[in-house]
Amino acid sequence: MTASIIDGKIIAAELRGRVAAEVARVKSEHGVTPGLAVVLVGSDPASEVYVRSKHKQTQEAGMASFEHKLPADVAQADLIALVQKLNTDPTVHGILVQLPLPKGLDTDAVVNAIDPAKDVDGLHPTNAGRLASGMPALSPCTPLGCIILTKSVHKSLEGMNAIVIGRSNLVGRPLVQLLLNENATVTIAHSKSRDLAKLCAQADLVYAAVGRPEMVRGDWIKPGATVIDVGINRLPGAEGKTRLVGDVAYQEALKTAGAITPVPGGVGQMTVACLLVNTLRAACAIHKLAAPA
Ligand code: NDP
Repeated sequence: MTASIIDGKIIAAELRGRVAAEVARVKSEHGVTPGLAVVLVGSDPASEVYVRSKHKQTQEAGMASFEHKLPADVAQADLIALVQKLNTDPTVHGILVQLPLPKGLDTDAVVNAIDPAKDVDGLHPTNAGRLASGMPALSPCTPLGCIILTKSVHKSLEGMNAIVIGRSNLVGRPLVQLLLNENATVTIAHSKSRDLAKLCAQADLVYAAVGRPEMVRGDWIKPGATVIDVGINRLPGAEGKTRLVGDVAYQEALKTAGAITPVPGGVGQMTVACLLVNTLRAACAIHKLAAPA
C-alpha cells in the first residue's frame, strides 16, 4: 500500500480562491477592504522571505497589505508604540509581528500589546485562552491549516485517536484544542514522553511538530493512518545546496500511512492561506458582518 499524498499546494490555492471571493463580496456589499499589517524587525533572511510571500498573497486576495520594517536595534518602546498605532488604525484588521524577534526584544510584551481582535497569528493570551475554553477565537494559522488538510481526507474527526507530537504555543497546543473542538481523542507528546513509537501506533491521526528531521519513523505509524508533517528542517543537500525535510521519515511513512503531507508542499502552503482567512474573519468581526463560511 502506498499512502495518498495530501497536496497542500492545491488545497491552499482553493482556500485562497474562496477568501478572494469573500473579500470581493465584503468590499462590494459593505465597502470594507480587509487590511493586514505585517511588522518585520531586523533582516533575518527566512523572515524576509515569509513577509514577502504574505504581502504578495494578501494583495492577490484583494486585501490591503501594509509592511512596516524596523531596524534590529529598535527600542522595545518604539516597537510597542507602532503596534498600538496599528491597533487604532481603522484600515488595519490584522496585525502580525514576524517572529522570532531579534535578541533584546521581549516577544511576550509585544504580542500582548496587539489588540486581540486584530491578533491574526492567534498568539495573544486572550485568544489562546478563548480557544482553550472552547470559545470563538482567532487561532494560530499553522494548526488551522493542519485541520483543513486532515478534513480533506476525513469529513469528520469525531472519535478518532490523534497524537500531537510537540506542545509549542505556536503549533502543538493550539492544534490540540482545535482537535478537541472536532471531537477527536487527543494524546499530547513532547520531549519527556515515553515510548513515542507505541503512542503513535495507536493513532489514526499523527501530527509531527517537533523540529527534528525525520524523527517519526515509518514503523511507528498505524497502517492507514493520516500523517500531517508540520516540521520544516533544512539539511545539507547536493552541490552545497540545502534540502527541506519534515519531522517524519517520508519515504518510510509512505509505505504504512493511508495519507500523508509532503515537505515541502504540505502544511507550509496552508499557513499563509490561513492568515488570509484570519484577516478576513477579523475584518468581518470588527465591522460586525456575518462571519465568512
Ligand atoms: P518548538 O521548538 O517551539 O517546539 C518543539 C516541540 O517538540 C516541543 O514541545 C518539544 O518538547 C517537542 N520535542 C522536542 N524534541 C522532542 C522529542 N525528541 N520527542 C518528542 N517531542 C520533542 O517548535 P515549533 O512548534 O515552533 O515548530 C515545530 C516544527 O514545525 C519546526 O520544524 C518548525 O520549523 C515547523 N513549523 C512549520 C510551520 C509551517 O508553516 N509548516 C510553522 C511553524 C513551525 P518540550 O516542550 O518538552 O520541549
